[in-house]
Amino acid sequence: MAEAAHKFKLKKEDTVQIIAGKDKGKRGKILKILRDKDRVVVEGANIVKKAQKRRSQQDRGGIVEVEAALHSSNVQIVCKKCGPTRIGYKLDGDKKTRVCRKCGEAL
Ligand SMILES: [Zn+2]
Repeated sequence: MAEAAHKFKLKKEDTVQIIAGKDKGKRGKILKILRDKDRVVVEGANIVKKAQKRRSQQDRGGIVEVEAALHSSNVQIVCKKCGPTRIGYKLDGDKKTRVCRKCGEAL
């Protein structure tokens, strides 16, 4: 089945579940969308440690934990009714709404 040419379906604040990688099964909100890279940053997922530079005499610098972006194909939107699902669209007049492909519930 051919998907419409690379349309980004996810939105900021969407609750998604990680379906691949070390955080598989984890759920969180989308904090950021990197549209051009086809990646999303999900709250609490794909945490990586980064070294931070000292910015002042008082600042010790050190290691901070930040969320790294995940490829959008590694996350699935979560439907309130059926859990992780795929996004479908419903036409309501000329308005398009995102719906769950399994149960039709608006997402
Ligand atoms: Zn559903």
